[in-house]
Amino acid sequence: MLDLDIIRFPSIGPSYATKLQKLGITKIRDLIFHFPHRYQDFAQISAIDSVQNGEVTTIRGQILAIKNIFTRYGKRIQQAVVSDGTSTIDVTWFNQTYLVKSLPVGTWVSLSGKVKYFGNKRSLVAPAWEKLATENWQPKTENTVHTGRLVPIYPETAGVSSKWIRNKIAKLLPIAYKEVDEFLSEDILKKNDLIDIQSALKYVHFPNDDNEAKKARLRFSFNEFFELQLNSLLRKEKWKNKKLALKLKLTKSDVETFIKSLPFSLTNAQQKALKEIATDLEKSTAMNRLLEGDVGSGKTVIAAFACFIAHKNGYQSAIMAPTQILASQHNITLTKLLNPLGLSVGLVTSQQKKSEKIINIKADVLVGTQALLAQALNFKKLAVVIVDEQHRFGVAQRALLALKGGSPHVLTMTATPIPRTVALTMYGDLDLSILDELPKGRLRIKTWVVPPKKRDGAYEWIRQHVKDTDEQAFIVCPLIEESDSETLQSVKAATVEFEYLQSEVFPDLRLGLLHGKIKGAQKDEIMKKMKDGKIDILVATPVVEVGIDFPNATIMMIEASERFGLAQLHQLRGRVGRSDKQSYCLLFTDSKTPRVKTRLSALERNLTGAQLAQLDLEMRGPGEIYGKTQSGLPELKIGSYTDLPLIKKAREAAVELLPTVNKNSKLQELLNKEDFIVPN
Ligand code: ADP
Ligand code: MG
Repeated sequence: MLDLDIIRFPSIGPSYATKLQKLGITKIRDLIFHFPHRYQDFAQISAIDSVQNGEVTTIRGQILAIKNIFTRYGKRIQQAVVSDGTSTIDVTWFNQTYLVKSLPVGTWVSLSGKVKYFGNKRSLVAPAWEKLATENWQPKTENTVHTGRLVPIYPETAGVSSKWIRNKIAKLLPIAYKEVDEFLSEDILKKNDLIDIQSALKYVHFPNDDNEAKKARLRFSFNEFFELQLNSLLRKEKWKNKKLALKLKLTKSDVETFIKSLPFSLTNAQQKALKEIATDLEKSTAMNRLLEGDVGSGKTVIAAFACFIAHKNGYQSAIMAPTQILASQHNITLTKLLNPLGLSVGLVTSQQKKSEKIINIKADVLVGTQALLAQALNFKKLAVVIVDEQHRFGVAQRALLALKGGSPHVLTMTATPIPRTVALTMYGDLDLSILDELPKGRLRIKTWVVPPKKRDGAYEWIRQHVKDTDEQAFIVCPLIEESDSETLQSVKAATVEFEYLQSEVFPDLRLGLLHGKIKGAQKDEIMKKMKDGKIDILVATPVVEVGIDFPNATIMMIEASERFGLAQLHQLRGRVGRSDKQSYCLLFTDSKTPRVKTRLSALERNLTGAQLAQLDLEMRGPGEIYGKTQSGLPELKIGSYTDLPLIKKAREAAVELLPTVNKNSKLQELLNKEDFIVPN
């Protein structure tokens, strides 16, 4: 019955089914796996003559009297008197006139709520209630659902109350839980101190005490991580088993030629990453590596190296960027790095004419947005694919995995700081190289949180600095919506802000405007002007977040900075500090809450991107670190990405059970169907 549509459940019609969809509930299974986020403690049961003023308790007794009262102001109050033989208590509800019919005189009820004394009269105001089937109640002999116990409180949605959900689950659970199969062995349960899944289901909804609730929650946290781990381990295995598209050879002299061609010497971290990648490229299985490094840590050269090796072997490579701006930029940088080595670099965009595309597509290194992926994959000679700044890691890998032919080597690059626990949970299938070192001579970016009263002073300081030094500044407009994609609204806001700043604040400076809706030649012109120092201040929407490189820009000013995640702010800040000049970051905020202050002041300190991400993970949760839409990080129902010990245990269990997946239908149910679909 678990796989039946929720609508098949008696008393759930199309209207409720629609509402439940908002909670992600479409099947019966989803309903019993809809977990409470907390419990209200109504477990204490008292005799009426012993209740204390102010205490939260449950009483059980018989209705002696009940009536509706209509006040002068149109309010409807239900007043009742309840006795349990030891004494009586007054009970009041509001606007529930039907109660007079539901709970007629003589009904046995259980009531939970806060006791109040009016003089020496005891009363319960708006208590939770339910009928008792029998008068012969004793504590715990009656299975109450809404009162007299730890009462589960569920995530709700409009028109679906926690009480409604609780009612349905109470009816469904006793039949349904037996159908849920255990997928862990006795041995693994024991080793990890876990209860079996059927008990966990009972306890998570209706625990008899805190300990049962805790054990149930532990079990389901474990399940969440186990499932993620099992999937990532399986992806890793499938990747390994795929045939390599084209074999590469690597010689010492090739590596030396490349390193010698660079205008700088590599950092230690870059050297290490280069070695790791060189080792991968020589293997007979395709590389699947994540290169993680703070902004400015110099990932592009590493990418160029992989392209160079592909070329030495007579093959093409492709670099995919998330935006057109970044693709153009890579085109410029890579041309500079690779032309001297005899490689041609070609930009492929969707706006290009066919004839132009045909020429560019023959280049040794293809650069374009991720839309390029689909086309690029048709190239037989593609030996290396580089995916830059992708938030939704794994998507490209999945696409490549689903290919019928062989796999190219894949290097994913990101400046997105990934907390260690998240890397371990989500990207266990990727090998990891980390650039944890900036090129020599880079100074720490001086960062200040700026309150409203210092705004004018800050503007003045920016003006002076820009005039004195000929350096450039960014002003980043607020994130308008909780999404990373640029909306019309945020474009408009940036335009308005740009006009205001140019005419009212900085009439004596040259301002430029950049947002995602500015396209083609116009955009190229702005980028060129900025590069040539013909713009003093570039006003931009948060699109500048990823990757653009203007070494002469030294000031980053961010509006409404509290709306951004710390990792996002860190990345924005990384647009400056890209040369040996001292750079500055001004975080504007009108917010005065201590939480915002704590978060933002973390940026004033000298924390790495990964540390900031970990902090935000703890303060705001995973959905907030990278922005809601693009994180690709599933929201956990119960588990926490900060729980390293449990994550490790779940990984061990997944490693142990991985070899049995093919023979075990229960484990197969945990596998992610997305992994078998090619995203477009
Ligand atoms: P990111 O990791 O943010 O993509 P980039 O690859 O864009 O960083 O490099 C940032 C800047 O640092 C570029 O201008 C690049 O030429 C320069 N750079 C990279 N590696 C070094 C190095 N080892 N020494 C000096 N400058 C470097
Ligand atoms: Mg980059």
